[in-house]
Amino acid sequence: MLKKKISKVLIGTNNKGKLKEIKGLLPKSIKTYSTLDFDLKSPAENGHTFKENSLIKSKYFSKKTNLVCIADDSGLEIDCLNKKPGIFSARWAGSKGDFNKAIKRVYRELYKKNKNWKTKKIKARFVCALSICYLDKTIASVIGKIEGHISNKVRGKNGFGYDPIFIPKKKRQTFGEMKFTSKCKIDHRSIAFKKIKRFL
Ligand code: IMP
Repeated sequence: MLKKKISKVLIGTNNKGKLKEIKGLLPKSIKTYSTLDFDLKSPAENGHTFKENSLIKSKYFSKKTNLVCIADDSGLEIDCLNKKPGIFSARWAGSKGDFNKAIKRVYRELYKKNKNWKTKKIKARFVCALSICYLDKTIASVIGKIEGHISNKVRGKNGFGYDPIFIPKKKRQTFGEMKFTSKCKIDHRSIAFKKIKRFL
């Protein structure tokens, strides 16, 4: 696909944590809008993969606003839980987006698998699919991943979502303990962004 110069883009998410992060990753020369500016609700995410869901969101928001739209779908995969919560990461937090509840569910499911899970290294990764839908309806899509493991304690108040229980490979702190700016330099979204930059 050819590089298409864009001067303005809609960031297709209603998640304030993601919005802040994606805004920070985009070149400053691009004017950004958010779905909040248009009072748009997210479409049903009925894809079976992160990629399918990011395509659904970018196409939907682009059509609704007539803007180029960049949208992500992301989540946490835990190997011994058959990659759950995966594409259901947001849904585990319930309709109120309560991540204490989602994290409790992670711990509950790990306990069900193995009562001694806290003594094991629970391999996990954050995955981010990013898609850009252009005005001519062509699409660019990429995937970014960061490997790590689950902390046996909830640690840190920074970031959002599952950040307080994810420790990236070769680090000691959870994403929730790192400065938000440090996390954003290494996480799944920034890895995906490095790949999609050539399409901006
Ligand atoms: P969705 O992409 O809108 O379906 O939401 C994905 C969910 O995955 C978010 O609501 C977060 O809970 C979680 N998630 C995705 N990226 C991150 C991250 O960088 N930190 C913590 N949680 C994340």
